[in-house]
Amino acid sequence: MIIPKASKLDATQLKEVENIVDEFDCSILEIQGRKQCVYALLGDETHAVMFKRIAGLSYIRKVDAIESPYKLMDRRSALSEHQVEVGGTKVGIDKPFIIGGPCTIDPNSPSLYLETAHALKEAGVNALRGGVWKPRTNPYSYQGDNKAIEIILRAREETGLPIDIEVMDSDNLTLALDAKVDILQVGTRNALNYSLLKEIGKNSAGTESSVLLKRGRHVASPNEFIAAAEYLVAAGNPNVMLCPRGTTPPLDGYRNHPDESITPLLKSRSWAPVVVDPSHSVGHAEYILACSLSAIAYGADGLCIESHIDPAKGIGDDPKQAITPSQMKELILSCQDMWKHRYQVAD
Ligand code: PEP
Ligand code: MN
Repeated sequence: MIIPKASKLDATQLKEVENIVDEFDCSILEIQGRKQCVYALLGDETHAVMFKRIAGLSYIRKVDAIESPYKLMDRRSALSEHQVEVGGTKVGIDKPFIIGGPCTIDPNSPSLYLETAHALKEAGVNALRGGVWKPRTNPYSYQGDNKAIEIILRAREETGLPIDIEVMDSDNLTLALDAKVDILQVGTRNALNYSLLKEIGKNSAGTESSVLLKRGRHVASPNEFIAAAEYLVAAGNPNVMLCPRGTTPPLDGYRNHPDESITPLLKSRSWAPVVVDPSHSVGHAEYILACSLSAIAYGADGLCIESHIDPAKGIGDDPKQAITPSQMKELILSCQDMWKHRYQVAD
């Protein structure tokens, strides 16, 4: 990893560095943070001479070699100070970052989504979620509809809140990037789809769109999970959040095996914010509060929670697992208390 003294290398400096690394069959990739550009070294970067030559350039602050399967996501990387911002809010600063909204947007009932969005804004969420395209286990279930994107865009316009939409393929990605979707969600089924991750990272590089990467449900280990996120960052977008959402096989009675306890393991290895999804983890509205508090106690930076103004009318997972906006309001206050308690204990 190469860190320049200025916020980025100018064209002549970049060329000079490129010429050096090229001699050693390496290449560099520019990663644009909000304040500082860093340059990842790709290839066999164990050449001491190459390091010395780059480190010796007057405009270079530091050259780092990190022995890690995920050089950019690693806590020790030059991105360790990087802060993910969504719609102008820094994730994980001062209080939990809360994403809320229905599992699935009903394209035939825009008012249900819009009323939910306003009620959630009032409840204190930081971002709105809503499935436009849905990865359904049952191929005959509702699969989504492009029309739904108009509804969530209207909700963003009316509430001023950033929006989170799952993208499953290149077509979804193009539409979501055209709409400047604030959070591109990668679902658990695509959590290890490396070509999609690379494509998302590349096409969202330098944009305001962050990525919420869910944990693979087949018990992705902390390292496998972080390495998947590395694909996004290595392709150019450092605005990545890790989202544990439960694993299979489920704990009898829950939808999945709750995994919020993975949070401190992720945070000790990587700088990326952890935003836990309790909804798909426990899968029942009655357990969402406990799972959310537990996630915050474990050190989570935020939560992604399914919420609907009238869960029974939802067309996705909502009838089972969505909480109402008034329950969301209570949950947010309780989680803020837990957050403060966490810091008092740490002090
Ligand atoms: C969702 O967020 O509605 C969803 C399908 O999530 P997951 O990928 O975690 O199942
Ligand atoms: Mn869902």
